[in-house]
Amino acid sequence: MKKEKLGGMDYFRLAAAFLVVAIHTSPLSSLQGDADFILTRIAARVAVPFFLMVTGYFLMPRYLFGKSGDVRPLTGYVKKVLLLYAAAILIYLPVNLYAGQFQEAGPGELLRMVVFDGTFYHLWYLPAAVTGVLIVWLLSRAFRLPAPVVGGTALLLYVAGLFGDSYYGWIEKTACIREKYDGMFRIFSYTRNGIFYVPVFLVLGAWISHIRKGGKRGTDFAGFILTFVLMMGEGLTLHRMGMQRHDSMYLMLPLCMFFLFRILAAARVKPAEWCRPVSTWIYLLHPLVIIAVRGGAKAVHLEKLLIDNSMMHYLAVCVLSFLFAVCLVFCMEKIPPRGRRAEQGKERAWIELSRQNLHRNVEILRGLLPEGCCLMPVLKANAYGHGAVLMARELNACGITSFCTATVTEAVQLRKKGIKGEILILGYTHPSQFPLLRRYRLMQTVVDASYAKILRKYGKRVKVHLKIDTGMHRLGERWEKINEIGRIFRYKNLVIEGAYTHLSADDGISPEERAFTEAQGQAFHKVMAQLEKRGYHCPKIHMQASYGVLNYPALAGDYARVGIALYGVLSRREDADCMPDGFLPVLAVKARIASVKEVHRGEPVGYGFGYTASMDRKIAVLAIGYADGLPRSLSNGNGQVVINGRKVPVVGYICMDQTMVDITGIPDVKQGDEAVVIGRSGDCEITAYDLAKQSGSITNEVLSRLGDRLVRGWAE
Ligand SMILES: *Cc1c(COP(=O)(O)O)cnc(C)c1O
Repeated sequence: MKKEKLGGMDYFRLAAAFLVVAIHTSPLSSLQGDADFILTRIAARVAVPFFLMVTGYFLMPRYLFGKSGDVRPLTGYVKKVLLLYAAAILIYLPVNLYAGQFQEAGPGELLRMVVFDGTFYHLWYLPAAVTGVLIVWLLSRAFRLPAPVVGGTALLLYVAGLFGDSYYGWIEKTACIREKYDGMFRIFSYTRNGIFYVPVFLVLGAWISHIRKGGKRGTDFAGFILTFVLMMGEGLTLHRMGMQRHDSMYLMLPLCMFFLFRILAAARVKPAEWCRPVSTWIYLLHPLVIIAVRGGAKAVHLEKLLIDNSMMHYLAVCVLSFLFAVCLVFCMEKIPPRGRRAEQGKERAWIELSRQNLHRNVEILRGLLPEGCCLMPVLKANAYGHGAVLMARELNACGITSFCTATVTEAVQLRKKGIKGEILILGYTHPSQFPLLRRYRLMQTVVDASYAKILRKYGKRVKVHLKIDTGMHRLGERWEKINEIGRIFRYKNLVIEGAYTHLSADDGISPEERAFTEAQGQAFHKVMAQLEKRGYHCPKIHMQASYGVLNYPALAGDYARVGIALYGVLSRREDADCMPDGFLPVLAVKARIASVKEVHRGEPVGYGFGYTASMDRKIAVLAIGYADGLPRSLSNGNGQVVINGRKVPVVGYICMDQTMVDITGIPDVKQGDEAVVIGRSGDCEITAYDLAKQSGSITNEVLSRLGDRLVRGWAE
């Protein structure tokens, strides 16, 4: 079973939208007043914080925990919400005017409406979300406050907000405090706004995303039930005591939300992406539907059923809002997105990256590592063809701050694109490039004892990790040469931040491989112990790459230098057995069909008579070739691509820039259509494993050779 996630959140979006509708229609009011209070003024108060936490969960971790300097996700979100807000203001304008809401409003009042209260009662959410997101971003990125301080500030704001909301009664009698609050209420009508209410939920969402693993499900359920019941008690008590000025904020609400959100985030439910826009539109449009239901009921004389019966009224509004939203989303999907933009980068041959799958892989890997062992993703060879800068940015956003590259040039490229954290160069760097190590704050591997001397001669301070050869016999000083290794610690200009070794047979678990790998681990630990004995300390040690994490968990250190598994595959399909469920490939490769043509019986296709049609065939020419990384050994029926959900074979020799495939019998294939080279289309999938097998190699090679002409971008 695949560990699909996010589905819990997706479906709860719908539930939350219906709870908001309940707040605005009081479904139980015609039955029992207290029950309605409990439902709409207490229980349903989880809805809005939930939406805010979703934003926090996906948008804020990179700023709060990842210290990302990339503002594009932030500006993207703000732009999207402001656009929605502008649209909503326009949609509700006729209602505002009809109700005469703007008649007495001066410019100050209008500004207060637009910035804080919303121009229609439910619209406050949109400016509040923007304000809150900006506050959290400012605190964590502009003021560079650590996450706990930002969280504490958000909590303090929330507590301050409580006294303008459910706990207003407490300060009502203290004139000086009350004056302050009443002064604030001249600027905004409620403390349930972007300043006091929103930040704490954004931080909570981000925090839950950051800690992800850990915590027992039972604890979360128990925590939720307990805090929910306490919140009921709190709400009812305050209500009875007449404390409440408004009833959106409870002391128990953030705690209750913490548990609820963890339950939803951990639910193993398939994603239901359609819920996302549908819930947004239900939220935005339900007040219109309320007006419509009331008007409609009066028109057909069904007031008793559809207005006076609060439950029926609520159901009618829910059903109609839902249908309205579904239709709207369906129609909007039919409207082609602004043509040029949607196709940008997809003109010829391209790579689509799945952010969701990358996040999932990171999450699973983190779950496999013991406490204190950090992921140190390996971004060499353009992140195994995935695009090193794209990957690093996204990983930064997941809170990852240690990376490896093979070369100094790769590391410099990452720095130039603003990648934060430490970067370890795994390979040899020429002395002429040593200044780059300092300029870009990189860590160099000391590839052996003689290289250490060269670094020493350079004279300037350089951060390094020592590489110990424990059996691979590639880079690293031989582990037996403990004196030579010890001497490196006396080189004053080398700042030894760590030491590592590389396992050469960790992809297998046969007795022989096991013995060899364990001997490597022992040799490494022996060196470390000897060094300690001489008073030389290595702050960080690491051994495992992808297979090490999966097959030899006991060899965990301070870092796991994970490459291939992060990208959702292993080297060979046979090895995928040792992979826990849930890893999904991050990358898909697609290409345009440049031309479709008939070939007659006896005619050759491509260079050198590699293929001759034995009967009339239809051929599609793809705009991708071996220069893009499609192995030439896939020529002549060895390899396939997927077109219109069907696998079709390569015919003739793959060319540098083009590849011919046989599409005889596949209907509706046109010039300009897409072909899937790696990835899924309909029920058909071609994986990096297939290409590796067909070309007699491993996925690592196939992926890392994907060329620069392929345009890389996130699919979601
Ligand atoms: C490439 C490399 C890795 C990553 O290996 P994967 O098997 O892709 O996880 C780790 N360490 C070193 C030294 C490497 O060269």
